[in-house]
Amino acid sequence: PVVTRFAPSPTGYLHIGGARTALFNWLYARGRGGKFLLRIEDTDRERSTPEATDAILKGMAWLGLDHDGDVISQFERADRHAEVAHQLLAEGKAYKCFATQDEIAAFREAAKAEGKSTLYRSPWRNASADTHPDAPYVVRIKAPQSGTTVIRDEVQGEVSIKNEQLDDMVLLRSDGTPVYMLAVVVDDHDMGVTHVIRGDDHLNNAARQMVIYEAMGWPVPVYAHIPLIFGSDGKKLSKRHGATGAEEYQAMGYPSAGMRNYLARLGWSHGDDEFFTDAQAREWFDLGGIGKSPARFDFKKLENICGQHIAITEDSEIMREVAGYLDAAGEPALSEGQAKALEGALYCLKGSARTYPQLIEKARFALASRPLDRDEKAEKALNSVSQGILNELTPQLQNASWTREDLEAVLNDFAAAQDTKFGKLAGPLRAVLSGRAVTPSVFDMMIILGREETLARLKDVTG
Ligand code: GLU
Repeated sequence: PVVTRFAPSPTGYLHIGGARTALFNWLYARGRGGKFLLRIEDTDRERSTPEATDAILKGMAWLGLDHDGDVISQFERADRHAEVAHQLLAEGKAYKCFATQDEIAAFREAAKAEGKSTLYRSPWRNASADTHPDAPYVVRIKAPQSGTTVIRDEVQGEVSIKNEQLDDMVLLRSDGTPVYMLAVVVDDHDMGVTHVIRGDDHLNNAARQMVIYEAMGWPVPVYAHIPLIFGSDGKKLSKRHGATGAEEYQAMGYPSAGMRNYLARLGWSHGDDEFFTDAQAREWFDLGGIGKSPARFDFKKLENICGQHIAITEDSEIMREVAGYLDAAGEPALSEGQAKALEGALYCLKGSARTYPQLIEKARFALASRPLDRDEKAEKALNSVSQGILNELTPQLQNASWTREDLEAVLNDFAAAQDTKFGKLAGPLRAVLSGRAVTPSVFDMMIILGREETLARLKDVTG
């Protein structure tokens, strides 16, 4: 069975790149009936904060990336990591190194002067236990010094590292605490992780981690190191390009399904498919579809995909997401009446909004209460017809039966009687009903508002 994991360091917020890594792991596991685990890599006590862990959990919850089992804290597993180091020590696959910082620095300087590799080679690697002083030591692994280590990466292909480039990396510091590299390997092994999908900034770590796997006789997981995300200018995505935090995207009002779709396409492809559902993504996602070169973040494409998702999302889900958006954006929540009005209007709004703020703007006619304020364009549209025409419209509407068909007939007939076309009346009516020039169709607005409210809004302008 497939087991993947997301292993963020809790030092800030959920970066959009991290969100994509989590998504790839989630899709890979969910599409194969596997497990998707979450491990918080909080061994760096100075930089790790509980707020950052909360932000990561919140970001994942927004994106619907549910994990299996408990959240695992790497720091809490330190004893287990040390246990493995001691096992390697007992098996002669690791050794105690008593070299002082000064000695190591002197070694490096001498190597540099002679033009040799400055990779530290400890004299303690082959020292016998009875020559050990009673002094502080670190535990180092005995890394192979000849031959090559080959990472068989599902994205990068075969990456060979000459073993002479590997040092005897430290497993336990002199205070007995485990290093990060050891923790990752032990945790991935103990968690039963079969596939490690992560940023390609960890590719070099993979070679060093393989040394530990091999020393322990553990199977090496399948690796897939994915290229980082770039901005439109081909440089690593940063604040200069726009938002980098997952939660910022929620606060900007992107729907989570659209975000998942877009993030999945960021570095992975399935033929020419740009727009797809979660179910399709789960079915299609594979490591072979991950590209070797960095993907560029494209806000236009994101919006486009988001619009298509809003159009197919269930009303109740949209209402939940809108509430989440307002909260994330620090906006007041909708009142019960507004929520009802919005939900009732969704059928005619869903197809034309790319973000939730756009949706809310289009729903303005249903959310705002009288008297409406009108923007400049609406004011202009309103002034394009005479008051008299609007006055005469009132009795017509009073007698209409208020079905869409009937309203269309009434307004078309009315326009004809005024020697004009309905199209000429639409602009002023949009202004009357919503105070804006760009709105859903006049008929939809009338149906949703009902006769009484429609007439009241008309009266507000005719006086
Ligand atoms: N904690 C690492 C990071 O946030 C990920 C390590 C891994 O996936 O192996 O970059």
